[in-house]
Amino acid sequence: MPEAVLQRAAAEMLDWEGSGMSVMEMSHRGKEFGAICRQAEADIRDLLAVPEQFHILFMQGGGLGENAIVPMNLSRGTSADFVVTGSWSAKSQKEAQRYCKVNIAATNAADQHTRLPDPSTWQLSGNASYVHICSNETINGVEFQEIPDLAALGCQAPLVMDFSSHVASRPVDWRHVGLAFGGAQKNLGPAGLTIVIVRDDLLGHALEICPSAFNYKTVADNQSMYNTPPTWGIYIAGLTFQWLRQQTEGALTGVAAMEARNIAKARLLYDFIDGSAFYDNKVDAACRSRMNVPFFLRDEGRNDAFLAGAREAGLLQLKGHKSLGGMRASIYNAMPLAGVQALVSYMREFERSHA
Ligand code: PMP
Repeated sequence: MPEAVLQRAAAEMLDWEGSGMSVMEMSHRGKEFGAICRQAEADIRDLLAVPEQFHILFMQGGGLGENAIVPMNLSRGTSADFVVTGSWSAKSQKEAQRYCKVNIAATNAADQHTRLPDPSTWQLSGNASYVHICSNETINGVEFQEIPDLAALGCQAPLVMDFSSHVASRPVDWRHVGLAFGGAQKNLGPAGLTIVIVRDDLLGHALEICPSAFNYKTVADNQSMYNTPPTWGIYIAGLTFQWLRQQTEGALTGVAAMEARNIAKARLLYDFIDGSAFYDNKVDAACRSRMNVPFFLRDEGRNDAFLAGAREAGLLQLKGHKSLGGMRASIYNAMPLAGVQALVSYMREFERSHA
């Protein structure tokens, strides 16, 4: 979270703009929260340059919830194609099998999820209701550097993209997207809010079994207020959208500025790891994530000492995901360049004293 956002939320915690209420105490149907919600939606539309024919939905259920909600809304009970590039897309295809037939169009499992299968090699089925990708695999550290253009591959199905862990870190080319979803908790706000951005023509096809609160058309028709939305999450995400819009790097603003900053942060860390014989990153340089950098100490016997020293230096949450081991630096939008510089300094010093 950007510190400025937390500070503003703290200052407004007991009394939002003279209303005499905390945002947590507001009715979601009141005029105060209505204004907060409309502003948040306008700000994310502007920030991500979302075209008019897309709805922006504030939902609950998280990324894993969407793994079921998407096929319930889009599959029409037929089939969907999945490109499996790591743990999260693997989970998505497994969950979708409860609602429709699943075709694995491509997988990088044989490469231990360290490189992306070229879209020209994908075995798209031709009649799928949608094609699913995870545009940034949070655990494996693999990121699409471009959103695949399915139409150029001769595929008319809409692309569904799980952008949970890199939303707002780079611009989105909406021409190639039918639906994007993401939990807010990485780059946008607290856990509990899920953002869904969906093209108009994909609404209104939900399966009969789809819960009303998860029916995209119902949510869209009710401006995300069919049931009580995660009001606090929307408020904090709204403050984050404002903060993101204000960011600049040279002549760049907003998401373009964040992208420039994220490129610089990621380059610093990857260049250091690549230049070291002590640390190792196994991901193909062409698809390395700018947000999640998994890395290993070549001598894994030093892992505990590395983590203990990092903690002492104020560098937290570096332990890798349990499925992969090693280390992982998650350098989301709110992590400043100085944070990555501090990590690299620590890594250099640890190498010097342990090599
Ligand atoms: N997709 C991706 C890419 C994720 O990183 C995560 C969470 N780390 C999820 C899905 C699952 O999200 P949630 O825990 O909000 O269900």
